[in-house]
Amino acid sequence: MTITTAPTSSSAATAKAVLDAAFPAGLGSFVDGRVLAGSGDNITLTAAATGEAFATFADAGAEGAEAILESATAGAATWGAMSGFERAAILRNVSRAVEDHAEELAILESATTGKPIRDARVEAAKVAEMFGYYSGWADKLTGQTIPVPGNWHTYTERVPWGVVVAITPWNAPMFTAGWNSAAPLAAGNAVIIKPSEFTPASSVRLAQIAHGAGLPAGVFNVAAGLGHTVGATLTTDRRVGKVSFIGSVPTGRRVAVAAAQAGIPALLELGGKSANIVFADADLDRAADGAISAIFSGAGQSCVAGSRLLVERSVHAQFVDMVAAKAARLRVGDPLHADTEVGPIITAQQFATVTSLIQAGMTDGGRRVTGATLPKELAGSGLAGGHWVMPTLLDGVTPANRLETTEVFGPVVGADAFDTEAEAIARANNTNFGLAGAVWTSDVSRAHHVAREVKAGTFWINSYKTIHVAVPFGGFGDSGHGRSSGPGVLDEYTQTKAIWVPTRAAGSPFPSLSY
Ligand code: NAD
Repeated sequence: MTITTAPTSSSAATAKAVLDAAFPAGLGSFVDGRVLAGSGDNITLTAAATGEAFATFADAGAEGAEAILESATAGAATWGAMSGFERAAILRNVSRAVEDHAEELAILESATTGKPIRDARVEAAKVAEMFGYYSGWADKLTGQTIPVPGNWHTYTERVPWGVVVAITPWNAPMFTAGWNSAAPLAAGNAVIIKPSEFTPASSVRLAQIAHGAGLPAGVFNVAAGLGHTVGATLTTDRRVGKVSFIGSVPTGRRVAVAAAQAGIPALLELGGKSANIVFADADLDRAADGAISAIFSGAGQSCVAGSRLLVERSVHAQFVDMVAAKAARLRVGDPLHADTEVGPIITAQQFATVTSLIQAGMTDGGRRVTGATLPKELAGSGLAGGHWVMPTLLDGVTPANRLETTEVFGPVVGADAFDTEAEAIARANNTNFGLAGAVWTSDVSRAHHVAREVKAGTFWINSYKTIHVAVPFGGFGDSGHGRSSGPGVLDEYTQTKAIWVPTRAAGSPFPSLSY
């Protein structure tokens, strides 16, 4: 295991300094174009790499939620009244501003969440790309003219919902803030992001940057606080037109039910248990690199993590050894170190979940080939107090094993052998999730056949984890519904209005129809 330690750089002191530079008056919600800091300190932020607390901030609470809803309602009126051309120009500026601040955003994200800086840099560039992509759609949203019998001119218009509330998770806060705001903004809505209480900083800074680039006050708001307080208030308030949620299955369902009871539709992007299928005829070295990146980037804290590795029996032992050897060479350690590939687990609670699921996987018959908690190299370093799980591979994870179906959300992959293509497909589909998956083979027909048969919203052939804002992304089954990227998402963030005009006064323009 290569350990990247620079004992002071990801310390609480560094995170505090980075946060203080971004928010000199303190961290808080972003409402009506400004940061509302102070007025309480009931939430504590902890550096994942060292386990030390570095900041506190106030839950927005019911009072904050009211101010945010008022701000967003006014913002929606201003933004919705502008032409698509004006909105496009402003969103292009936002994209450029994010690009200009990309390094600052990446450092803020890495220092406050424990995400390796190299990943945070990629995600900052992706956020700029999201605003660039959807700025291109803002002035191209059209309705239709629809021929009907009789003397009518009938056409449709696309109408924004007004206020969109986006609830986001902790594993990619800046990325998901961009992912779930660029499209609704392009469609003419105001947005309220409710980031995870563990990782609010980059969303607030993103909103601040977007406002500085010309988004009018109230159009992009951030509600800093807990899910069951400010999150629950925002997702059930009738001033809200639509909710989008990215997070776990139980919370997503709770949010969708509560929103539905208030008459608000919800778009859900939830968890996954994705299968990575390797056939003997694959380029095994590339497939092993793919398997590594599928599960260990982001320390496995990724919704599309390739957490199940299904390998054709004739190469199974060889391939498992290859992946284990590559896993052991990964650079684990300080998130702010430029070489770090695998960082810590976000919270002590998630660390406990991951370690108990590794134990469950072994109790159910899995054999640990590689992996550990706190390695000896970190024991004496400044990172010793962090939440560390080394890249872990368990072999012999059969269908009866809890790791077959339980999302770990950590750097843990369960491997098993298969004999036939049909068996590989059945194993891949042996889950209620359906977010992603991949196949590695040199047989083109087989690749397409497996891609067609595996139930997943995204499937890769001889690749893993490639995602682009222009391509639809979302889940089947328990992984959610609706899509959150690609041009189709603009339909999610607008309603269709049909308009009828009689073209001739003669005859009855009022056909009798009770509907
Ligand atoms: P979580 O479900 O615990 O929390 C998600 C968000 O919901 C947080 O902001 C939280 O504060 C908020 N929340 C909690 N209770 C709420 C309530 N009653 N009302 C409103 N909001 C509430 O998820 P997490 O632990 O932050 O993230 C990990 C999960 O997210 C994993 O299951 C992962 O697979 C999933 N995820 C999915 C995708 C995807 O695109 N499909 C992407 C990233 C993460």
